[in-house]
Amino acid sequence: MKVAVIGLGAMGSLALWQLAQQGVKAVGFEQFGLADARTGVGGESRLFRTAYKEGPQYVPLLKRARVLWRELEAQTGQALLHLNGGLTIGHPADEAIARVLQSIEQFAIDHQRLAPAEARARFPAHRFSDDEVVIFDRESGYLRPELAVTSALRRARDLGAEVHGHSPVARVEQRGDGVWLELAGAWQRFDKVLVTAGGWVKRLYPALGSPVFTRKLILSWFPARDIAAFSPERFPIFTRRSQGYFSFGVPSLEGSMVKVGISTPGHVVEHPDQVDLRISEAELADTRHVIQHFLNGLDPDPVRSSGHLDAYSADSHAVIGHPPGQPGVLLVGGFSGHGFKLAPAIGEAATALLLGRPAPVSVSAFNLHRLPVFH
Ligand SMILES: Cc1cc2nc3c(=O)[nH]c(=O)nc-3n(C[C@H](O)[C@H](O)[C@H](O)COP(=O)(O)OP(=O)(O)OC[C@H]3O[C@@H](n4cnc5c(N)ncnc54)[C@H](O)[C@@H]3O)c2cc1C
Repeated sequence: MKVAVIGLGAMGSLALWQLAQQGVKAVGFEQFGLADARTGVGGESRLFRTAYKEGPQYVPLLKRARVLWRELEAQTGQALLHLNGGLTIGHPADEAIARVLQSIEQFAIDHQRLAPAEARARFPAHRFSDDEVVIFDRESGYLRPELAVTSALRRARDLGAEVHGHSPVARVEQRGDGVWLELAGAWQRFDKVLVTAGGWVKRLYPALGSPVFTRKLILSWFPARDIAAFSPERFPIFTRRSQGYFSFGVPSLEGSMVKVGISTPGHVVEHPDQVDLRISEAELADTRHVIQHFLNGLDPDPVRSSGHLDAYSADSHAVIGHPPGQPGVLLVGGFSGHGFKLAPAIGEAATALLLGRPAPVSVSAFNLHRLPVFH
């Protein structure tokens, strides 16, 4: 069986590795260079969380992803996943806090719920108010996305896969004898095709409706007065919803700056190829507010900011399934700003589905036809 993968970002690169590992003849096409900064892979780190605010139904997939990240590390000799712990901060009435607590209870996640005084003593880089819930768990941390993607692709290549950078696929057509792809004006035939095109998926599938859309997300790096206070040992990753600001952060990985981002919906992008990925002052206002009101010791002027695209779905859960009239194509996307950590488990599931087998950890909850995604 010959399988093409369109888009070698988070899902495509990890799927290519899984396909190659299953002995499938796999060919990957990426429109840009590998691990390009414009995609969902750019920006040096991605949160890995197991006490999951998006819902406890993700925990089996997250646990499987963790096993597979460790497997990829063992195969490549690269350190990709660093579990330095994570803080969840929010108001007790917040549904996200309830879902984190449900994940912890159902799956016995090693954690501590900290009283405000204890939280302030242990994590002085944060400002906590007395009515906030603070949960510290040990099954969270961060991934190195560019390294993860390039490592997966290198390993896939070693196992026999082909990797083609700077190769945009223009069209996908299901015909009687397989699935045909148009690249640089020529058509190539495959038995099956996996589409993992992230924020660019509507260029291949213009019939995808409004339940799937692309967003620009912003990451910023801030200088610290005492950078040692933001080292991975002292500053766990965090997600926080306070006073309507939903933020996240990662410790200093290169020793001079701390990355903080805002998860409140970024702006919707109609044409991913024309979007301006530079960051305006207005776009930084919420992140500055977070730095000034909820953190101690960071300078509110970022020394670096960047914009990156991801595909969202109307309910913020992934969409996985066959586009109408294309039984040989599996479309996987819509990870809504939280998919990176899941990538190896999704890659494994996609491989199984393409081979006509059940996914080792079910992804049926993400069936694309639950939403009116196609016109
Ligand atoms: C700023 C930001 C921060 C995030 N933080 C986190 C986090 O902390 N934790 C977490 O788990 N997730 C996080 N996410 C989400 C996660 O990164 C994405 O959900 C994930 O990358 C989506 O994977 P994907 O493969 O669908 O898309 P991508 O990773 O974007 O990959 C899609 C790839 O397809 C390529 N492509 C598109 N069209 C074509 C074509 N026609 N031909 C060839 N190639 C094509 C693109 O160039 C791209 O490389 C974040 C996302 C962003 C943008």
